Amino acid sequence: MPFEVITLPCLSDNYAFLMHNPATRETALVDAPEAAAVRNALEERGWGLDRILITHHHSDHIDGVEELRSVYGSEVIGAEADAHRLPKLDVAVCDGGTVSACGEEAKVVDVSGHTVGHIAYLFPGAMFTADSLMALGCGRVFEGTFEMMWNSLAKLAALDPANMIYSGHEYTESNARFALSIEPNNPDLLARTEAIAKARSEGQPTVPSRLSLELATNPFLRARLPEVKELIGAPAASDAESFAEIRRRKDRF
Ligand code: ZN
Ligand code: FE
Repeated sequence: MPFEVITLPCLSDNYAFLMHNPATRETALVDAPEAAAVRNALEERGWGLDRILITHHHSDHIDGVEELRSVYGSEVIGAEADAHRLPKLDVAVCDGGTVSACGEEAKVVDVSGHTVGHIAYLFPGAMFTADSLMALGCGRVFEGTFEMMWNSLAKLAALDPANMIYSGHEYTESNARFALSIEPNNPDLLARTEAIAKARSEGQPTVPSRLSLELATNPFLRARLPEVKELIGAPAASDAESFAEIRRRKDRF
């Protein structure tokens, strides 16, 4: 990657991400939960803000957009499908399209489920997934169907496992408690749970995480595995049905 990524805590448990290319001095932001934390981070570093990439319409991902645009003159990019409920877009993108930021090109992929119209930005090595695929979890299915969310997660799961996943919230510690309720004996999950507790006790974020680690530990990605279907008592379930059962259990957890 020609850019560095800074994980920026916002509000109570959100993350925004600042991408910066030191060679071109370009800076981009993925999601704007609030303006203040972003402005402070930019001022500390003496950076401008060329672009804001929006993942979905929830207020905890867009509330800072207008203030940042007016201060920095940033170009705002988001899903055409959601243009009616996003801040005014300078560039509207669709599934399969591309966006360039910080000297690199991202593929835009529709990851509907949490909301219909949620998109992820897939840069080489770095995927910004917000509330679709999350560290040891996935977003709650508010607008789409379980099947839609499963299809979205399956698209992300098929990418290069070396990718880093930049997701939108610090929910990982409670996600670990839930994941252990599904797979109490998964050694990778047990090790990750320990690492998460250590990171959080030191005030460190657990985001980003590597896709390979999600594939080994995230119960929502693992819904398709025969051993996980067995553990939830649904050995004959389809992958999407198995995902739906695990997501329902999480909603009640
Ligand atoms: Zn959301
Ligand atoms: Fe969110």
